[in-house]
Amino acid sequence: MADNCIFCKIAHKEIPANLVYEDDQVVAFKDLEPQAPVHVLVIPKKHVESLLALQPEDKELTAHILCEVVPQLARELGVAADGFRGVANTGEAGGQSVKHLHFHILGGRSMQWPPG
Ligand code: AMP
Repeated sequence: MADNCIFCKIAHKEIPANLVYEDDQVVAFKDLEPQAPVHVLVIPKKHVESLLALQPEDKELTAHILCEVVPQLARELGVAADGFRGVANTGEAGGQSVKHLHFHILGGRSMQWPPG
């Protein structure tokens, strides 16, 4: 757990969040400022700063998130059939505001490309 990391605090239940999924490695919760009718963040409980900080030993965790949790949540949240956007903003120019790896699931409306 990293000092002063808001997502570590959510993962360890030190601050509240609207959780929609939890297992031993991952939590998912509703975004505080939703940008779509469905907007959920999926995070590892372990502190990883961003995609760039992932290490070879994180392969299993990353596969769990992308191969299992994200598709399961997309189905449960009702956005799998119509489609959704999965995003991991990375670094300053990538628009990452919270320095704890998170995957946005955005759906329930038509998404534009390229994003702003
Ligand atoms: P990013 O800009 O990609 O780093 O995304 C960070 C996201 O975290 C933003 O969409 C914020 O609205 C969201 N966020 C920040 N703090 C909280 C919180 N306490 N609970 C839920 N979502 C949060």
